[in-house]
Amino acid sequence: MDNHKHPRVAVLGGGISGLAASYFLSRLEPRPEIRLFEKGNRLGGVLETLYDGAYVIERSADNFATLIPDALELAKEIGFESNLIRPNKSGRQAFLYLNNRIEPIPMGFSLMQPTRLWPIATTNTLSITAKIRLLKELWVPARQSSDDESLESFVTRRLGVEVFDNLVEPIVSGIFTADPRKLSMQATMPQFVEMERQYGGLIRGHLHSRKKDAAAAAKRASGARYDQFMAPQHGMSSWVEALKDQLPAETVCLETSVQSVRRIPEPSTSSAASKWRLETNQGDQDFDAIISALPCAASARVLHGLFPDASEALSQISYASSAVIAMIVDRQSISGRTDGFGIIVPRKSGLKTLAISFSSNKYPGRVPEGQLLLRIFLGGAMHPEMMDHSDSDLIHLAHAEMRQIIGWSGEKPLWQAVIRWNNAMPQYEVGHLQRVTQIEESLAGTPTLALCGAGLHGVGIPQCVSSAKRAVSQIAKALSISQA
Ligand SMILES: Cc1cc2nc3c(=O)[nH]c(=O)nc-3n(C[C@H](O)[C@H](O)[C@H](O)COP(=O)(O)OP(=O)(O)OC[C@H]3O[C@@H](n4cnc5c(N)ncnc54)[C@H](O)[C@@H]3O)c2cc1C
Repeated sequence: MDNHKHPRVAVLGGGISGLAASYFLSRLEPRPEIRLFEKGNRLGGVLETLYDGAYVIERSADNFATLIPDALELAKEIGFESNLIRPNKSGRQAFLYLNNRIEPIPMGFSLMQPTRLWPIATTNTLSITAKIRLLKELWVPARQSSDDESLESFVTRRLGVEVFDNLVEPIVSGIFTADPRKLSMQATMPQFVEMERQYGGLIRGHLHSRKKDAAAAAKRASGARYDQFMAPQHGMSSWVEALKDQLPAETVCLETSVQSVRRIPEPSTSSAASKWRLETNQGDQDFDAIISALPCAASARVLHGLFPDASEALSQISYASSAVIAMIVDRQSISGRTDGFGIIVPRKSGLKTLAISFSSNKYPGRVPEGQLLLRIFLGGAMHPEMMDHSDSDLIHLAHAEMRQIIGWSGEKPLWQAVIRWNNAMPQYEVGHLQRVTQIEESLAGTPTLALCGAGLHGVGIPQCVSSAKRAVSQIAKALSISQA
């Protein structure tokens, strides 16, 4: 730190993870000199809101969960809380498109856990045989092995094939745009693995938690989980702007692509004292510490020369691509049910749509009265071939499937856009946690280099923020800066 009064810290990647890391660094005392490098010409990464006249349309995430409190706490800390809203109280219901009909997802079926008997006994989404098989979960022995397994394996083992096909697979491929046959149970749903280990199963786990906290369990099962979400009233981009405004001037370096990181050849006795030279398309710069908040493939490229093992493991974390077709239509042009927050579409329906979000039902102020904003999710790990289609083909397909699923009869939408997400959604495949441990162990000897972001410990916005917080703690400790 000889040439600079304060240590210099580089943050790579201007998505929510890099922004949060930069913000947390700026709160350290003494404050390091921070540089946030983003290859694009704006901040936010996948978070971006389209504003067109009265329309407010999210290109990707449209809300975040508050059960993991880090995103909400960050918003509070920067004085943004008053801009956050909860989902509308009406229409807190999601549907399933099954056998050419729109059916409500049974209340009390929480991700993969049956929590209420009556709605499941009376749902049209499962056959009698499947319902009996589901109840038999009580007697399915707990798995003995502690090895990771796929989500499909866990669910078919415990709840049966039809529950997987009709409910869990579409819910999961809708949320993670993932293939549940490959998804790691330990990395994506550890709470259910733990429930099986501790109580012997999902129903037993629920009965135990109900005994422990009857009121909370009832609340969880009755759809009140929508209260656990929040969204910026004026869109994700307004939050990104608010975060940017918190950063010291000179922090943000846009259109700066980081290419590699090197050690400065200087005699050094301790790794914590080593310096880093960052090579970018705008020239080289030297830093005392680095936080990489890049997507895994980009981190792998940047770290390749210095840390080949970590780089190799990072490059094995795969990402799925998807397309969102955003359509604004007259409510009157739809004959099917749209009185909920969205519809998920099982693979066995033979359609390409993964899910339809009725985005303007979820949050107010997205489109004028009488209109509906639909976001139709295509592609993902289940249908990667969809990304090869042209925009006009995707629009054509979305129109045809909206006619079939929700009975849309309009000539053309009032507004529409094709939003492509190439390699944007990390896939936590079986063995993910071991891979992450391997990466972290490879970098353990260099505490002034930390990783964070959606590819490692959770894809949701709150998990990204908490990973940024942990990365900053590590760097602060390595640089002997006290934290407030
Ligand atoms: C369609 C979709 C819907 C989603 N919905 C939700 C939701 O409702 N709720 C929720 O919580 N989460 C949701 N997510 C997930 C969540 O939005 C993301 O996981 C999160 O925003 C990722 O943030 P990040 O900062 O880790 O990565 P990113 O946003 O990918 O940011 C990484 C940044 O690094 C930059 N970069 C890449 N290479 C370089 C380089 N060499 N040099 C410099 N910069 C570089 C990129 O340009 C990018 O800006 C959704 C994601 C998608 C794709």
